[in-house]
Amino acid sequence: MEKNQEIVVELRDVNKWYGEFHVLKSVNLKVRKGEKIVICGPSGSGKSTMIRCINRLEEHQRGDIIVKDTLLTGDIKNIESVRRDVGMVFQHFNLFPHLTVLENCCLAPMWVKKIPRKDAEATAMKFLERVRIPDQALKYPGQLSGGQQQRVAIARSLCMNPEIMLFDEPTSALDPEMVREVLDVMVELASEGMTMLCVTHEMGFAKQVADRVIFMDRGQIVEENTPDAFFLNPQSERGKLFLSQIL
Ligand code: ADP
Ligand code: MG
Repeated sequence: MEKNQEIVVELRDVNKWYGEFHVLKSVNLKVRKGEKIVICGPSGSGKSTMIRCINRLEEHQRGDIIVKDTLLTGDIKNIESVRRDVGMVFQHFNLFPHLTVLENCCLAPMWVKKIPRKDAEATAMKFLERVRIPDQALKYPGQLSGGQQQRVAIARSLCMNPEIMLFDEPTSALDPEMVREVLDVMVELASEGMTMLCVTHEMGFAKQVADRVIFMDRGQIVEENTPDAFFLNPQSERGKLFLSQIL
């Protein structure tokens, strides 16, 4: 990752409340093109909320979020523009159960980008090959293992040609033997230069690909460091406590 790359995501003094509950407290973050960031922290610390604000699945109330020169507002055109640049993969895959794998991958390109079915299918097959499940294209999500479903979810996101990918604990709902196959795909994506923000506690993955680890607690970014520095020698007491619990 080159230091002089443009900044593609910026959070400036971002604050969010759920009712009275102050869930994000003045979060500041700059992500450069091609950068890989791993976000970790205790359950309930605001990790999901923060990354969901970046593509406006959640709305922040104060501060600015800028994605590729676009200031995120409530305007639908603006939200659509940001979502074109930002793909997201969730813990629970969120595939459409009544559509085949191929149809899941073609839906958004056809309806949002108006790409003809034939072209959308060709692109989908290309990405299903990249995640190593082209043979599953005509099956329904329920017929696939969790690891395969998550790889479909990644392929589906890539079909929209995003510049930035958000991952929210993509392996934490998987049986242990399926974690590796999903991480392998993510490592490959990282090596191809994708800008990635990943909420994950997979330390091996973080050490292998992350430029930075961000540790969140109680709605704040408490610590930010290289993976080696953070995992070997966290600076904050909260970071130390967290690591002692996940190790
Ligand atoms: P994390 O992903 O780090 O586990 P979340 O961002 O999901 O944390 O949640 C942060 C806090 O906000 C938690 O205390 C959670 O209970 C609360 N929260 C999350 N979503 C909502 C919601 N829609 N309404 C009210 N509180 C919420
Ligand atoms: Mg979460």
